[in-house]
Amino acid sequence: MRIGIPTEIKNHEYRVALTPAGAHHLVTSGHDVLVQSGAGAGSHITDEEYAGVGARIVDAADDAWAADVVCKVKEPVPEEYGRLRDGQILFTYLHLAADESCTRALLEAGTTAIAYETVRARDGSLPLLAPMSEVAGRLATQVGAHYLLRSDGGRGVLLGGVPGTSPGKVVVLGGGSVGRHAAAIAVGLRADVTVLDISLPVLRDVDRQFGSRVRTLASTTHAVETELLDADLVVGAVLVAGARAPRLVSHEVVESMQQGSVLVDVAVDQGGCFEDTRPTTHDDPVFDVAGSTFYCVANMPGVVPVTSTRALTSATLPYLSRIADHGLGALGDPSLRTGLATHRGALTSTEVADAHELLA
Ligand code: NAD
Repeated sequence: MRIGIPTEIKNHEYRVALTPAGAHHLVTSGHDVLVQSGAGAGSHITDEEYAGVGARIVDAADDAWAADVVCKVKEPVPEEYGRLRDGQILFTYLHLAADESCTRALLEAGTTAIAYETVRARDGSLPLLAPMSEVAGRLATQVGAHYLLRSDGGRGVLLGGVPGTSPGKVVVLGGGSVGRHAAAIAVGLRADVTVLDISLPVLRDVDRQFGSRVRTLASTTHAVETELLDADLVVGAVLVAGARAPRLVSHEVVESMQQGSVLVDVAVDQGGCFEDTRPTTHDDPVFDVAGSTFYCVANMPGVVPVTSTRALTSATLPYLSRIADHGLGALGDPSLRTGLATHRGALTSTEVADAHELLA
């Protein structure tokens, strides 16, 4: 099977979908790996490293896209829609519930698209979302702390405080992978941390992990509104797998918050969990809403590629390997089957169909 690895072209996306170690694995399994020249550069991986393990370096994106299986990091952007086609297997993050134009492009082209974020393991976990959620969660607190600086338009709060002052208050909405990792860094900074989730088993896990260093609260509209009143940093980290994110924070609630507070909507890739969320880019990551700073970058891990590329590819390689070995037959694996989003013009995800009023 020919496996194509194009260079990512989304704004400030420096990750690559395969490392030389992954390429070596596929090549020794008998596959032809086509890596676009420069694809690894953002992650400090050279063409020579790929060539050294037997991958073929191709100059043009079209050559990488011509492969039987195209493995990427981010969803195709409009400049790439022309490269989608029938008979092609595309394996990447898609987040289609928040992206109608990409959904339509995949359907019109007839691409078989398997979305990393909905591949579900037997235990119900999302193994290909988890590593990037870990990165985005940790980064969320880091960027939040940055935008709390007065010089960056923030409230001027040091999250950890110092002896004789109160620490900053961090509220995390959603206690899954993103939420727990955001909380871990906030705890590390010695902030006052509260995690809200609708799932009591999740809150029990958070309690087991953090003990008395994190307060847990059942997520209700009232609890969210009350907690946000005196929050310095809010991290939006909720997910209903495959579906549009539930809207938990209205414009009125943001108006009631402290001036200079920061809201990081990590769930922006699924449409966002704050009413005022709109996707931003690493070039222009923040905007103001009623005196609060919103950070809504949909590819947060893209700017820490040295960490993210390795974390992502360790998780995706076993699945990519299965697709390379078996082609469409790999969809017999229930985990990969749950990741299937589009196939030969048919939409296979009811959540995406609901989001865009299309027939699944
Ligand atoms: P997860 O499934 O591990 O956790 C989500 C949590 O949200 C669950 O515990 C769930 O119970 C909770 N939840 C669902 N509805 C809720 C509600 N109404 N109120 C409170 N809690 C609710 O998911 P995750 O891996 O943590 O991912 C969270 C989001 O972050 C996803 O949208 C994911 O795609 C996104 N993400 C974004 C980036 C980025 O760069 N912006 C990177 C990685 C992940």
